[in-house]
Amino acid sequence: LAGLSQRDPGIAELISRERDRQNNCIELIASENFVSAAVMEAQGTILTNKYAEGYPGRRYYGGCQYVDTIEDLALSRVKRLFNCTWANVQPHSGSQANQAVYLALLKPGDTILGMGLQAGGHLTHGGSMNQSGKWFDAVPYGVRGSDHRIDMDEVNRLALKHKPKLIIAGGSAYSRILDFEAFRTIADRTGALLMVDMAHFAGLVAGGVYPSPLPHAHIVTSTTHKTLRGPRGGIILSQDVELGRKLDSAVFPGLQGGPLMHVIAAKAVAFEEALDDSFQDYAFNVVENARALASSLAAGGLPIISGGTDTHLAVADVRPLGITGDVAEKALQQVGITLNKNSIPFDPEKPMITSGIRVGSAAGTTRGMGEYEFEKIGEIIISVLAAAAQNDWDSLTEYKEQVRTIVHSSTRP
Ligand code: PLP
Repeated sequence: LAGLSQRDPGIAELISRERDRQNNCIELIASENFVSAAVMEAQGTILTNKYAEGYPGRRYYGGCQYVDTIEDLALSRVKRLFNCTWANVQPHSGSQANQAVYLALLKPGDTILGMGLQAGGHLTHGGSMNQSGKWFDAVPYGVRGSDHRIDMDEVNRLALKHKPKLIIAGGSAYSRILDFEAFRTIADRTGALLMVDMAHFAGLVAGGVYPSPLPHAHIVTSTTHKTLRGPRGGIILSQDVELGRKLDSAVFPGLQGGPLMHVIAAKAVAFEEALDDSFQDYAFNVVENARALASSLAAGGLPIISGGTDTHLAVADVRPLGITGDVAEKALQQVGITLNKNSIPFDPEKPMITSGIRVGSAAGTTRGMGEYEFEKIGEIIISVLAAAAQNDWDSLTEYKEQVRTIVHSSTRP
């Protein structure tokens, strides 16, 4: 960053501090990961200078001969990765990928059926603060109180009653395998289209450790930056090329202007990385590590929502230690463990307080941590939360040291 530090030392210094933070903390935010140097390099290139409104071979700007090939490569790689016939790699984010689907398929006032926020759904699936909740008649489904799993009978009942145009499966804090076939059966029975938002588990699908939604969903959306370990961005996939044409028009010109060609190049690099056999090992380890962490938290007395995990993430109820999710997040940050507070199903606390924490293994696994480290991390979390509940802030120094030891003993990519 020699150029930047001379031009803008303030920003250079903050980036440098953020790099230190990322290198010295244990990253447990389930939606984050560390991209490879190749992905980072592609994203930080002169491609940011290029306007390329339109699609390869039909742009509204000249000089697109190289970016056309880059976008074509990103498209062919992502279609190979997820075994589908149509893709769009232009959405700037996961939210915009979802918005594009809504723009293509819905009219304001239409009914959508998505997982409720508190049960683990995402804002863009009909959250009241989000455009999807303001412009559509959003009906939420939840999880059972008994086992925190999606109640497919409830989904069926709500679909029959409300006749949604679109059913949405997927979420941000649901740790179990979704029954895509059952969702599709309900969609077919009630005349709805099925969209699966695989933002969180896309890397697990790519790595073959989570079932693919593509044989069942009409449309699949995703982010590229979570378990998939690419740059920050979105994609839309489908097996229906006709439907794909509508979705293309919704992304551009419906919703966005120029695509971020530097990000699309980085997406292409990440897709190629995910096509490599080593990514299957990565995905396998991510799930094993999440299970190790969840078991360790459970052994320390924190109930795990749904009793465990099939994915990279787990949500733990922190109430048995006498604290809230909010205090837990802050206490853990003090020792160098980064995660987020999270609502648990039927949470009595407000979203800014919460009764839970969400943990994820995707980033730590990238950094070379294994089950041993994740078990140890679970033990540290329990000790820190117990100390925080007693207002014993002095003892946190000891855990800070333990965190540093784990961070610096794992292999860096
Ligand atoms: N969909 C799901 C399931 C998510 O978890 C997220 C982000 O957390 C998004 C969509 C939105 O992605 P972005 O933050 O890129 O807009």
